[in-house]
Amino acid sequence: MPGLQTKLVHGDDSVSRVSDVVAPINVTTTFKYSDDPSKYITADEITAEQAFLPDYYVYSRVSHPNSIRIEELFESILGRPAVVYNGGVPAFNALLYHIHPKRIFFDQCYHGCRGAADLLTRFGALEQHGISEEDLENLQAGDLIHIESPVNPEGTSFDLAYYAKRAHDKGAFLSVDSTFAPFPLQDPFEFGADIVMHSATKYFAGHSDLLAGILVVKDQKQKLQLLTDRIYLGTNIGNLEAYLLIRSLRTYELRIRQQSANAEKLVKFLSDNLSRFDTLESVSHSSLQTEPFVKRQLPNGYNPTFSIKLTSADAAKALPSKLKYFHHATSLGGVESLIEWRALSDSKAPKNLLRISTGVETVEDLIADFEQALSNQ
Ligand SMILES: *Cc1c(COP(=O)(O)O)cnc(C)c1O
Repeated sequence: MPGLQTKLVHGDDSVSRVSDVVAPINVTTTFKYSDDPSKYITADEITAEQAFLPDYYVYSRVSHPNSIRIEELFESILGRPAVVYNGGVPAFNALLYHIHPKRIFFDQCYHGCRGAADLLTRFGALEQHGISEEDLENLQAGDLIHIESPVNPEGTSFDLAYYAKRAHDKGAFLSVDSTFAPFPLQDPFEFGADIVMHSATKYFAGHSDLLAGILVVKDQKQKLQLLTDRIYLGTNIGNLEAYLLIRSLRTYELRIRQQSANAEKLVKFLSDNLSRFDTLESVSHSSLQTEPFVKRQLPNGYNPTFSIKLTSADAAKALPSKLKYFHHATSLGGVESLIEWRALSDSKAPKNLLRISTGVETVEDLIADFEQALSNQ
């Protein structure tokens, strides 16, 4: 079996249509039918298998060479069927259409996913519940538990196996948003997930220059259904973004391992030195959790995004502009480190919370930067 970095570079070789070493940008929206009329398959006869074959292209909302290459690449890496979208939120919408639950059980999660659920609730199509013991008592067959782990913005983990058991005991489903810890850091299927989503905008893309999303499922039939649904949701990845995402995936393992290692060291520095910095109140990260499930869920490194709380909202507001190597911006997963006073983009976030996305810079520089910024508060 080839290793992860080999698959990232070669996993889509089999569906390349050209001799170009680099997958070309295909800007076309439409593709010529065959010159041979005996090869025509009419729209009322074509099967989903035929419509999404790697050599059958009609219109780029359905599929295009680079959307197919991305899906092939993900399947080679994950060993499971994957479907690509034009963002993480579109992937979550597709997940909701696919599972079609009457009730969703979720708590803390990315505000955009909650907003997507709110749209369905507004039309009376989805009831929302929490994930407390009391809430889970009411689970019924066909319901959905949606867990984000590690969770935004804190960067701490939930016990996936526990929620999988609760869901499956009642015939409900578990979906996991694994954006904060994509493979090889975490494989939610190992802990009972039925469907996994990622905002590929973050670590897979890794350069803060494209929006994309991925759903990973258990069998080919589900994938064909998702691909068919995607035609009508109108959410296939764009041509240029698909090209950029392939380019990004070539170096993905190199980046994620460095980002994960950097975050663990930076978190350790901050938590070891809590008493040294007057304004630093607490640090939250999976690496600081002591429950045994955390290490099992993240066997190959911890999530590169974490959060800190300062002693006041004013201190939190002031810190980003004192840092040299952390841009003050929302989002995460890029090669450049970011910090965000989370109150600027998330109405539910505590006002003294800062979210940090660790990039690939030399970790000693990142640590020294925090040291000087916190010493000058
Ligand atoms: C960013 C993000 C999303 C949304 O993804 P987009 O690509 O911005 O649509 C969903 N979940 C998590 C955990 C995220 O960080």
